[in-house]
Amino acid sequence: MDIDNLADRVIAGERRALARAITLVESSRADHRALAVELGRRLAGTERQALRLGMSGTPGVGKSTFIESFGMLLTAKGMKVAVLAVDPSSARSGGSILGDKTRMELLSRNPDAFIRPSPSQTQLGGVARRTREVVTLCEAAGYDIVLIETVGVGQSETMVAEMSDVFLLLLAPAGGDELQGVKRGIMEIADMILINKADGALKPVASRTCADYAGALRLLRKRAMDPEGFPKAMTVSAVSGDGLETAWDEIMTLAQWRREHGHWDGRRAEQARHWFEEEVRMGLLAQLTRSPEMRDRMYALGSKVADGRMAPAVAAYEILSALGAVD
Ligand code: GDP
Repeated sequence: MDIDNLADRVIAGERRALARAITLVESSRADHRALAVELGRRLAGTERQALRLGMSGTPGVGKSTFIESFGMLLTAKGMKVAVLAVDPSSARSGGSILGDKTRMELLSRNPDAFIRPSPSQTQLGGVARRTREVVTLCEAAGYDIVLIETVGVGQSETMVAEMSDVFLLLLAPAGGDELQGVKRGIMEIADMILINKADGALKPVASRTCADYAGALRLLRKRAMDPEGFPKAMTVSAVSGDGLETAWDEIMTLAQWRREHGHWDGRRAEQARHWFEEEVRMGLLAQLTRSPEMRDRMYALGSKVADGRMAPAVAAYEILSALGAVD
C-alpha cells in the first residue's frame, strides 16, 4: 500500500481515500496497524483543526434526526461535516451500516457531509480508541466539524467526551422525576443539554424539563473551562429546526471563549495525554493475551480465582511476575 499517496489524497479531501484510511485504522491486523501509524505520521503536519463535537443520548431521543437537521444547517453555512459513531450496541450486532445511512438520508447524500458507520469491534475501549484516530483523519481531510455520536450506555459517554471539544447531551421532554434518571456523572461532563422534541404538544413539557435541568446544572460545581452561563440547557426541535441556530451560536460562543482563555488547547493537550496512555495500556493488555501460552495461563488462573481457590491479587501477582512487572 502506498501510504504517501493515500496521505496526499486524504489531505486533498478525497472521500474514497478517507474511507480507505479509516478502514486501515480500524483494522486489527498487525501489518495494517504499522501502516496506520505511518499514515498518522504523514498526516500529523497538516495541523488542521475541526470542532470536535461529542453527542450522547439514549435511543429514541432523536439523535439521528438531530444530526440530520443540524448537519444540513452547518453544510448550508459552508462547512464540511463528518459524523462518526461510538456505539456499544453495534459491537454486538456487527455494525450498522444500513442503519446509519437510512437514519440520515439527506445528510448521507450531501457532498459536504461524510457519515461513517459504527465500526464493528467487540470491545468498547477498542472502538473508542480507533474512533479517536478517525477523528484526526477527518480533520486532516479538511472537515470543519467532526460530530461523534454515542448511545448513552455505560462508559461510552465518558470516552466520547474525552475526544470532544464540546460535549452535548440530548434529552427528551419528560416528567420531573425523570431528572433522577440522568446520572450525575453525565451531567458533569455535558457542556450543553439539549431538550429535543420541543414542538407541538410536547413543547410545554420540553420547556419545563429544560427549566428543571437548568436548575440542576446551576447546582453543579463551577468548572474553570466554562464561561458564565455554562453548562447550559436549552430546547430544540430536530424536526422543525427550532432552536438549532441558537444551539449553534451557543456552541460557537463556548468554543470561542475556551480558545481565548486557554481552555481549548489545554483540554486537547490533556486529552492527547490521556489517549496516549490509554493506547499504551491497551497495547500491553493485548500483548498479555497474544501468546497462547499466556492466554492459557490467564484462563487457568481466572478459573482458580472464580472457584475461590486463589485470591485475585495472588493470581495477578503470578502473571505480573511472569511478565517481570513486579517491583
Ligand atoms: P435516535 O434513536 O436517538 O437516533 O432517535 P431518532 O432520531 O431515530 O428519533 C426517534 C423518534 O423520535 C423518531 O420517530 C423521530 O421522528 C422522533 N423525533 C426526533 N426528533 C424529534 C423532534 O424534534 N420532534 C418530534 N416531535 N419528534 C422527533
